[in-house]
Amino acid sequence: MNYLEIRLSYRPNNQLRMVLFDTPEGISKYVSEAKKAGKKVSLVPTMGALHEGHLSLFRLARKESDIVVGSIFVNPIQFNNPHDLQHYPRTEKQDLSMLESVGCDAVFLPTPETMYDEMPRLTMNFGNLELVMEGKFRPGHFNGVGIVVAKLFNITSPDKAYFGQKDLQQYLIIRQMVKDLSFPIQLTCCPTLRENDGLAMSSRNVRLSSMARPVASKLFEALQLGANSLKRYTVTESKSLVNDFMMPFRELRLEYFEIADAETLNPINDVANHKRIALCIAAHLEGVRLIDNIVIEQ
Ligand code: AMP
Repeated sequence: MNYLEIRLSYRPNNQLRMVLFDTPEGISKYVSEAKKAGKKVSLVPTMGALHEGHLSLFRLARKESDIVVGSIFVNPIQFNNPHDLQHYPRTEKQDLSMLESVGCDAVFLPTPETMYDEMPRLTMNFGNLELVMEGKFRPGHFNGVGIVVAKLFNITSPDKAYFGQKDLQQYLIIRQMVKDLSFPIQLTCCPTLRENDGLAMSSRNVRLSSMARPVASKLFEALQLGANSLKRYTVTESKSLVNDFMMPFRELRLEYFEIADAETLNPINDVANHKRIALCIAAHLEGVRLIDNIVIEQ
């Protein structure tokens, strides 16, 4: 069979468990055999360059299922900016040892050619959900996300899949897709892991210089300021306080700061009648695009 199954040689005493596949047929067969044996299978899709934030998803999946499958694939069709795709960090070897350390059972690492022997003709439209924030500023991004996640779901047929709240809009889009297309998959949205100064962990953070790195934490400060302001001020006043706060950090080019309903992501004018409210921010720093959000419940 034309698939790669590498038993990692650095695992001592032959106790090796994590297997790697680079073809859909390989990982499909692995999962289908596991399911036939009555195992519950989880999938954690990633683009690699893994950090503790990613690992938290794997740790939860490990607790809640028998077999944990990870995927590492830098999906070209979700990048609207070729520079971002070209500079996306790739640290495969390190990723694999991190995954092994958290008890991942199998990793699917396809090439772009395997995933897209032909460019998909299907396009996905998520309506209102993709007209705001990331969808608005990254045209075509969620079509690319929807297509790749649907392919990964079909290839790996997991019982459960884990995503991060760090990419809240992505989670909501996938939730919509799972519902609309009846994927029999239970989704979990995991909390955002942060550095000590509050900066959301992200694969892109390594591209920041030591000068820029402290400035990046202003994004989380802005979100907290916004959340606190909502306790006393209107949505419009809170937004303008956040904009004023960001103003002195000229190197941080704000793309958007939105206060929205956390289920629909529609911008809100008034916090009343919204049980969960999302504060979402995106900014560019040294050519690196950073996003973050917090959700408040009332
Ligand atoms: P990515 O490799 O950036 O596509 O991320 C893979 C998954 O990890 C996505 O579901 C992300 O939302 C999630 N993720 C990324 N950063 C974090 C973080 N700091 N905390 C928790 N989950 C994260």
